Amino acid sequence: MSVSVVTLPCGCFFAGRDLHRCEAHEEKEPEGIETKEIEIRLEKTCSAYPESYDAFFGTEQVGYLRLRWGDFTVEFPDVGGDLLLEGSPNGFGAFDDDEREEWLDKAKAAIVARLIKDGRA
Ligand SMILES: [Zn+2]
Repeated sequence: MSVSVVTLPCGCFFAGRDLHRCEAHEEKEPEGIETKEIEIRLEKTCSAYPESYDAFFGTEQVGYLRLRWGDFTVEFPDVGGDLLLEGSPNGFGAFDDDEREEWLDKAKAAIVARLIKDGRA
């Protein structure tokens, strides 16, 4: 599944449902939209303890996702890189089935936001 990115002429953009605001729109709502789809591909590298994934944009690795001891982290672009997202799912060493998609979508959105900020997407 791809992440919907909505970019506004002012520099505001949505990655998934998260709005990243430009300076002019830190308080008031922006107007006007342009939409594109960015595909982040996840490859599961371990099913549990930890549940982990490598993330790719095209052929390039852009993330390492890991759920261990109830702590979900997304590092960019690989292990030991910048921490883009950290959270506490219900699952301890693997996601509960009803929460996996939501967390993986959040991870993809965080990666896409970083790629856009870096001018790479
Ligand atoms: Zn704006």
